[in-house]
Amino acid sequence: MKILLVEDSAAVVMVMTRRLSSFGHEVLLAINGLEAVNMFRDCAPDLVLMDIEMPVMNGFEAASRIRAVEATQQWAWTPIIFLTASDTVENLITAIEAGGDDFMTKAVPEPVLQAKMKAMARIATLRQRLSAANHKLEAMASSDGLTGLCNRRSMDERVDLSFAQASTLGAPFGLVMLDIDNFKKYNDHYGHQQGDDCLRKVASAIGASVDDANASGLTTGAFAARYGGEEFAVVLPGVPDAALQQIANSIVQAVRQLGIPHKKNDSWQVVTISVGGACRASASGKVVDIFRAADAQLYRAKENGRNRVEISPEQ
Ligand SMILES: [Mg+2]
Repeated sequence: MKILLVEDSAAVVMVMTRRLSSFGHEVLLAINGLEAVNMFRDCAPDLVLMDIEMPVMNGFEAASRIRAVEATQQWAWTPIIFLTASDTVENLITAIEAGGDDFMTKAVPEPVLQAKMKAMARIATLRQRLSAANHKLEAMASSDGLTGLCNRRSMDERVDLSFAQASTLGAPFGLVMLDIDNFKKYNDHYGHQQGDDCLRKVASAIGASVDDANASGLTTGAFAARYGGEEFAVVLPGVPDAALQQIANSIVQAVRQLGIPHKKNDSWQVVTISVGGACRASASGKVVDIFRAADAQLYRAKENGRNRVEISPEQ
């Protein structure tokens, strides 16, 4: 375990550090409550062992600040054990009330300390597993099961955040909507299994184009989402219309170059997409209006013969 020991007495520090290290734990040291709160934030320890009486900030105040830091992190609860001078009922009650989980006297016998650390290590392992499982669940809840791109729900959240950021900076904001040409005919001809396969490949080509755009510096924080069915959206913060045209063209080209056979797609004979784009020179108004404008352009791209990009003039 990574243990944060908070103690102002050099003698106690020496004894405790030697014992904890001999049990195989890593010991980080803070000599007052304020230092403890900062180290807690930076080092994310598995356990806090904390003295009560200390200069600058005492242990009770530090414990309540540590709990406040944790309140910003979902699911986090790091055990805090207070180190006290004496083993009294009052000390126990005060320690728990202050946000601690237990207390120990500084003169705790070595085997008792070892046993308590063993129990704490079990909790730490469980917490790590829980946190890993939660991260995985969060990732699953925000991505589309078939394509791995953002799903509609997480796109709605991210797009609002990204639009608000662009508004604050007065930065441009671009958006494209796209869908696979004659996809219903594709499904009818090749079957749904192959249809899913086609969606996965197209999504991965879109994702790669977005990665390229991010890497090229044309945009930062761009992301692609499956909007629904065979429809996708690409959110492009910081992108004015010239760059939007360039990125949209590269996506159309990337999908065509996949060369996925599609006999029912007019003269092209391979899978193609149509793209509609819209952007604002500086993000203002409502993001839903940009979606609407991009969608209208997507409709125009279909009307004008598919496998093409149409972009509304910058506003
Ligand atoms: Mg002290």
